[in-house]
Amino acid sequence: MFKQKINKLLIGTNNKGKLREIKNLLPKNIKIYSTKTFKLNSPIENGKTFKENSLIKSKYFSKKTGLICLADDSGLEIDLLNKNPGIHSARWGGRHGNFNKAIKRVYRELNKKDKYWKNKKIKARFICALSISYFNKKIACVLGKIEGQISTEPKGKNGFGYDPIFIPYKGTKTFGEMEPSKKCKIDHRFRAFKKIKKFL
Ligand code: IMP
Repeated sequence: MFKQKINKLLIGTNNKGKLREIKNLLPKNIKIYSTKTFKLNSPIENGKTFKENSLIKSKYFSKKTGLICLADDSGLEIDLLNKNPGIHSARWGGRHGNFNKAIKRVYRELNKKDKYWKNKKIKARFICALSISYFNKKIACVLGKIEGQISTEPKGKNGFGYDPIFIPYKGTKTFGEMEPSKKCKIDHRFRAFKKIKKFL
């Protein structure tokens, strides 16, 4: 394990929704830096798994800034779509991260696969890989998941990304309808965070 106490940490994401959620999870005594402060673009995510992509980001941003970096890679897996959008979740929103577009694509692909999908339970899960790196060295890398299903229509204005179409297991509301304070205590990022916090 990394022996030095971490008191400064860069959050390696250019996604405002994720930055806000990760910041809320971190101990208040750690000084947080964001990629915006350093005007950094994101690296090319050419890994084959959430963990690989998360490590690509934490190593890249650490090397660019000289700071220890916590990065995530996350997305939505839908079983009927062969686990897509998966690691391509951000890309389904297009270059400008338009999530109405990504959500429309989910529904289009579901309709193509099975026109009666709305009568069935469409199993899905959000996955989050979190990693901490210092230059090229991996300090930690963990995975968190939350199972659920796809809503037959988008509901709710809270959150970001695919939140309006994901209903977590046992629930009836989508993440988009849920209070953000409730979502962030059960979601994939929180579950991954629980595993990684001992490294901080
Ligand atoms: P990346 O990790 O930057 O490649 O982006 C992952 C994409 O997955 C995000 O842009 C969101 O669209 C989606 N995503 C990840 N976590 C969440 C979440 O908690 N709610 C909704 N969408 C999410």
